[in-house]
Amino acid sequence: MNARLLDGKLLAQQVRAEVAADVADLARRGVVPGLVVVLAGDDPASAIYVKNKEKAAAEVGIAGRIIRFGADVSVDTLATCIDALNADPAVHGILIQLPLPPGIAPDAVRALLERVDPRKDVDGFHPDNLGRLAAGTPRLVACTPSGCMRLLHSGEVPIAGRHAVVIGRSTIVGRPMALLLLAADATVTICHSRTPDLADHVRRADIVVAAVGRARLVRGDWIKPGAAVIDVGMNRDAGGKLCGDVHFDEVSPIAGAITPVPGGVGPMTIACLLENVCRAARLENT
Ligand code: NAD
Repeated sequence: MNARLLDGKLLAQQVRAEVAADVADLARRGVVPGLVVVLAGDDPASAIYVKNKEKAAAEVGIAGRIIRFGADVSVDTLATCIDALNADPAVHGILIQLPLPPGIAPDAVRALLERVDPRKDVDGFHPDNLGRLAAGTPRLVACTPSGCMRLLHSGEVPIAGRHAVVIGRSTIVGRPMALLLLAADATVTICHSRTPDLADHVRRADIVVAAVGRARLVRGDWIKPGAAVIDVGMNRDAGGKLCGDVHFDEVSPIAGAITPVPGGVGPMTIACLLENVCRAARLENT
């Protein structure tokens, strides 16, 4: 392999150490950053993600708490819970773990996410926070795209004036990612499921961010030699092995820098969540 490995595990450790120092600084002023995760239903993957977030919060001194509801929870109950958390001064970050149970309609899910006080929206999913990012005045930014930017910066990948291709346009990853790259002066192309000739777009990219959810979609012959490749995807291949959206074995001899899966973007998402909790605590206490 020729590409430099952008090691998310290592960088996440550094970010967590910075967060721990920030938590200690806030503690000297009598502020303990608080994160509450609202978990509804019994999705096994969500249960693991939430436990990981609680553990990571505890390790840096953030007061983390999980509020659990059954799969039959009503929209009203969740709304009442969110209102109480919005009003609680000890809670700085509120995270509604997705997916919510199937009984909750997509419109209701959107309404619940929008009910979270944008100043406590540590996921950065609220339209207020996404809109601020689009306006060039970011406040709380989605954790996964923030983590991708940190990986690019840590690898000293030049961004200004370069062509970045983001594959995927979700409000969680693709869109905020494109806005962050634009804010860093890249020329940005957003590709998605209706983009013809995806490979041709990717071939022109100095930076590729793949956030699709399709195992090993991005092939070696799509990559401009020396390009930086950030793989957000988390998929299981036919053999059940965890893999990204990028065909690592084909791409790594051609790319200049690449993130692995696992050990790339994933650890950075949680680290940036912790960072957002501190940022939210400062918003309330400065
Ligand atoms: P999503 O399903 O909401 O969005 C996928 C996007 O990919 C859509 O915008 C769609 O238009 C596009 N797409 C689908 N098929 C395509 C194709 N053939 N060609 C081009 N574009 C195509 O997913 P998401 O929430 O944005 O997540 C994307 C991936 O990133 C998933 O694998 C998810 O598990 C992973 N993810 C990882 C982390 C992490 O921390 N590592 C965080 C969030 C998401």
